[in-house]
Amino acid sequence: MAVIDLLIVGGGINGAGIARDAAGRGLSVLVCEQGDLGGATSSASSKMIHGGLRYLEYHEFRLVAEALAEREVMLKIAPHLARPLRFVMPHVPSLRPAWMIRLGLLLYDSLGRLSRRLTLQGSTAIDLSRSPMGQALQAAYKKGFVYSDVTVDDARLVLANARAAHLLGAAICPRTRFLGARRENGLWHATLEDAGGRREVFARALVNAAGPWVAEVIDALPAGTGKKDGVQLVKGSHIVVPRLYQGDHAFILQLGDRRVVFLLPFEEQFTLIGTTDVRAEMPEATGISTEEILYLCRAASRFTREEVKAKDIVWSYSGVRPLHDDGQNNPSAVSRDYTFVLDSTGKVPALSVFGGKLTTYRRLAEAALARLSPWFPKMGPAWTDTQPLPGGDFTTQKELVARLQGNHPSLPPAWLERLARRHGSLGERVIGDAKSVADLGRDFGGGLYEREVEYFIAEEWAQTLDDILWRRSKSGLFMTPLQQREFGDWLARRQG
Ligand SMILES: Cc1cc2nc3c(=O)[nH]c(=O)nc-3n(C[C@H](O)[C@H](O)[C@H](O)COP(=O)(O)OP(=O)(O)OC[C@H]3O[C@@H](n4cnc5c(N)ncnc54)[C@H](O)[C@@H]3O)c2cc1C
Repeated sequence: MAVIDLLIVGGGINGAGIARDAAGRGLSVLVCEQGDLGGATSSASSKMIHGGLRYLEYHEFRLVAEALAEREVMLKIAPHLARPLRFVMPHVPSLRPAWMIRLGLLLYDSLGRLSRRLTLQGSTAIDLSRSPMGQALQAAYKKGFVYSDVTVDDARLVLANARAAHLLGAAICPRTRFLGARRENGLWHATLEDAGGRREVFARALVNAAGPWVAEVIDALPAGTGKKDGVQLVKGSHIVVPRLYQGDHAFILQLGDRRVVFLLPFEEQFTLIGTTDVRAEMPEATGISTEEILYLCRAASRFTREEVKAKDIVWSYSGVRPLHDDGQNNPSAVSRDYTFVLDSTGKVPALSVFGGKLTTYRRLAEAALARLSPWFPKMGPAWTDTQPLPGGDFTTQKELVARLQGNHPSLPPAWLERLARRHGSLGERVIGDAKSVADLGRDFGGGLYEREVEYFIAEEWAQTLDDILWRRSKSGLFMTPLQQREFGDWLARRQG
């Protein structure tokens, strides 16, 4: 009977992050994910690695300080997926006085410096009536502030962690559902189900990183394992419209309901607008509602010169935040910090993860393993803050793109640039022995070639159209409906 150390339920950012960390410390790991890796909340975020300026208003200093430090870590270990972003905040005197914003930004910068801010620029005031950064805004917004955070490809960050875990020996099992587990003879006996049927796995410890499904997984454990009322489900949606403004900065827009909405540059030709906070009953994300669309269009249009209309929307997505329930009634005010519930009945531990952010997944993984360390005394020390994620071992994106374009002068330069952003130094593996465009195989449109699709399938566990067009890549944004249909037909034939 083969016994593994850790069975991780959930292949979102937290499950994948814990798997990578644990595998690197010498534990044997299996991750089961009922759908696609990162297919739930972890690919539906605002794609920011951020301290969370607004959390300062809720006095979440621990979370903010930890999150600020992670910005620099992420730029270092995933330079292909993460990049610095300047955020412009138009001043709205009726909502918050300028001194309050200045104080908040001072605190943000100071906490950032304390926690090793090395490369990101500090905050400053800005005259929006003169700066190119203010051009997209209505003339009424004259003053503003600029500060730094980081943006990341969330879905690919999950994959990079899963891939790293896999390279370190972890078994990564997407489309494999955890049905339940019982304690027997000092081990977890867990039942998993995939397309091939059911099987049992035996593990010394179980990690419940099921995100919005954390309570369902607790329900599938012996009675009394953990407490399942610790999660509050809050849905958030985003819309994508054709690029609203020039420049590679983002906007943080303060609204009258004490919320903020972000406008973010997205995939070069688009602007991402989000998000909403709507209490949810179910862990599955239902699509964006008409009210959410109206809310986001109105929020943006209050600030932008050009009105944002529902008919401009080219894509939208929704996700459910699995927030740690801290008794708050207002969904925007619920803490974004994480917490664990450890149940060690019979000395067989189950650790359930509540809350957390994409930003803090790496620290969450370290904290999770610290909680499990009594059961694994030989486990190695924390290591993930300095080791690049797969594809992240290069100096600058510019240098990497130049290298790829220099090595492959006959391949489309724009494709190589995208490849560098998606795969980093692993771009060379995607290219393989291709010498010309013809060697890239079928051109599906939107910059997607057969060769990269084969790589997604062979190396990144991709199976479906959504996996490929919306998570491994964002090619769906650049393809016509006909091209998407033709790709779907090709994929169906390819998958037999
Ligand atoms: C709208 C929105 C915007 C956000 N923006 C940001 C942001 O900009 N920055 C940031 O830092 N954070 C952001 N977040 C928060 C962040 O996205 C989440 O904290 C994070 O993705 C949660 O990851 P997770 O791994 O816990 O959950 P998930 O990604 O949901 O992963 C859990 C996985 O468990 C799987 N699973 C569940 N049950 C089972 C089972 N029985 N068997 C097998 N698998 C199972 C699910 O299929 C799922 O894939 C945002 C969240 C939302 C919703």
